[in-house]
Amino acid sequence: MHTSDVAVIGAGIIGLSAAHALQETGLSVTVYDRGSPGTGQSTGTSRLFRHAHDDARMIDLAVRARLLWDAWSAEFGTELVSTDGAVALGESAARRFVALGAHPGTTVRALDAAELRSVMPVLADYEGPAMFDERAGAIRTHAAIDALAGKLRGSLIIDPVLAIRPLGTGGVEVRTGANVSSHGAVVVCAGQGTAALAAAAGISVPVRVTAHARSSFRVREPGLTTLPNLQDGSGAFGETGVYAAAYPDRSAMGLGTSAEVAPNEFGGVSDPGMLAAVADQAAAYVSRALPGLDPEPIGYVHCWVTTLPWGDDGVAIWQADNTFFLMGHNLFKHAPVLGEALAQSVTESAVPELFRPESMLGASDTDQA
Ligand SMILES: Cc1cc2nc3c(=O)[nH]c(=O)nc-3n(C[C@H](O)[C@H](O)[C@H](O)COP(=O)(O)OP(=O)(O)OC[C@H]3O[C@@H](n4cnc5c(N)ncnc54)[C@H](O)[C@@H]3O)c2cc1C
Repeated sequence: MHTSDVAVIGAGIIGLSAAHALQETGLSVTVYDRGSPGTGQSTGTSRLFRHAHDDARMIDLAVRARLLWDAWSAEFGTELVSTDGAVALGESAARRFVALGAHPGTTVRALDAAELRSVMPVLADYEGPAMFDERAGAIRTHAAIDALAGKLRGSLIIDPVLAIRPLGTGGVEVRTGANVSSHGAVVVCAGQGTAALAAAAGISVPVRVTAHARSSFRVREPGLTTLPNLQDGSGAFGETGVYAAAYPDRSAMGLGTSAEVAPNEFGGVSDPGMLAAVADQAAAYVSRALPGLDPEPIGYVHCWVTTLPWGDDGVAIWQADNTFFLMGHNLFKHAPVLGEALAQSVTESAVPELFRPESMLGASDTDQA
């Protein structure tokens, strides 16, 4: 007898989405996390939902994910993605949005300077290319994590997983700090912890782990009726690769740049001064580009992020017998479809082709937030 049909390791947005999708198929699940749900890479108040991706397969998945987010909003009785849209600045963004315009299920349009001012009043004057993705928005991260974790109450165990071992019977053993359990299959969505568990199963995940800093800035004038997310690749304000996720209540924006800090050989931050400098860079950008925000940070997210070699939006699922390992970056927006893909991997005992590493899903030529 197994403890449950499937063990899910990691209660970030991906593990919770996978557990939800597995339960929908009628399978019983146990979710393990070393801490509270949503405290790894899924931490923080908001995330950008955007359709724009270099890889057209990711746009298809984003269109489906947006519908699933709506379905979850209906199921949980709370809006999980705002309807404020997303603004993208710069030539590369304009190119991506032109491709999006032809894509069924997306609604994008170019903005002239006057329209941009009315859609995004916190932004300084800007005359270059600007695009607006109407079906984009800010993901209410806490609401999403709470809703999914709430549904899994009773199946969630706070205990670190040390080892996963295939059993001769076809099942998989999971050894935690205080327990031994067995399951028909295991899904590993442990973020930064995934590569270590995969290595023990003989799989080498080619992940790059770096420290990322995001700072939050208060909106000066309360009462905005709209606050879209922002991606700025224009360089007009002295930075490229800037993203800003609006708080769902429009009171602030969480803003980061593409700068990242390498780990040292023990897994700590190699250069703490550089991490501080990255946060300062965000504040300096706000002073130049976003006069509608107070450049004094009101909060920080410092976090390890996990990136695959083929792009900042890269994602894949590796398989070893009945164990499935998901790894990638910028995954929050795609969580509902990634949960489905993991559930399908378990029920079919095989990873769908699109999500296998050789498909290089999310490949890009240029880095983006
Ligand atoms: C600042 C920031 C901004 C971002 N912006 C965006 C954005 O705008 N849009 C977007 O789509 N994405 C964005 N991302 C990326 C997105 O947030 C992540 O890709 C996503 O949250 C990853 O979720 P996850 O469930 O895979 O991993 P995590 O949230 O890291 O969850 C993994 C969980 O596994 C647990 N765990 C690890 N090892 C073990 C173990 N051995 N035993 C038990 N538990 C274990 C951890 O405690 C953790 O809770 C951003 C990320 C950051 C950090």
